[in-house]
Amino acid sequence: MSSYKVFAVSALLFLNAGVAFSADKLIALTFDDGPRPYVLFGTKGDHAGPSLVNVLDDNGVKATFFVVGWRLTPKTWGERRYEENVGITCIDAAEQLVRRGHELEDHTYSHIELRGAERKRGEQWVIGDVNRGAEAIKAVTGTQPHYLRPPDWIISDDARRDLEQQGYHLLTISRGNPLALRDVNSLDYLWTKDSVEYPKTSRVDAVLKQVEQREKRGVYTHILAFHELSTTAAVMSELIANLKARGYRFVTLSEYMQLVGAKL
Ligand SMILES: [Zn+2]
Repeated sequence: MSSYKVFAVSALLFLNAGVAFSADKLIALTFDDGPRPYVLFGTKGDHAGPSLVNVLDDNGVKATFFVVGWRLTPKTWGERRYEENVGITCIDAAEQLVRRGHELEDHTYSHIELRGAERKRGEQWVIGDVNRGAEAIKAVTGTQPHYLRPPDWIISDDARRDLEQQGYHLLTISRGNPLALRDVNSLDYLWTKDSVEYPKTSRVDAVLKQVEQREKRGVYTHILAFHELSTTAAVMSELIANLKARGYRFVTLSEYMQLVGAKL
């Protein structure tokens, strides 16, 4: 083969690799249960941890945050019991997220398990709680959220159908849906400080293993479900680097649905 041909072939391979990189392998990073300013902007002292917002910014990654409506009330700093005032309210944090190009979506107002709530208070209460969460977000961002992740992915079929009729797209782990549209449950809420099952050293690997299992089934697009937790923020840089090295590109959930959802 002449050197020109070698050059042409490798250029073509490079181009093909470029196409695969930009169009085929996608990750939508999502974080539930915030805003928690102490996770987003980092903490000092005993609980020192990296700022999740800085990690995302440094890596040029735009993410999607499924926030809880009650937090988006004045003078709310984070957690009811363990809240740490880092000088930024939840509303300030939400505004900053939007300003930095991240997306805010609905994780209900009360963060109550919806099927149990429906049994006790009726379906209208459930619909009301989802809408109240959406209104709290709209008050901050000016835009109506389109996506809902029910707490623990639990919701009755009736409530699901009625919310879909209202225009919500519900995130799910249900097997009735195409794999590419099923959330990957990172199980990061089990990453407590002393977790034996998920030691610190293997947390990134545990997530990558799930990604690899989906790749084996021919799926190269993934919605990764995390929580706004300091333990999660601590591994995010390493995880992003690993996924980038495997050719993944990071998009917001809206972009993901445009690129992936529309084709399924
Ligand atoms: Zn949650």
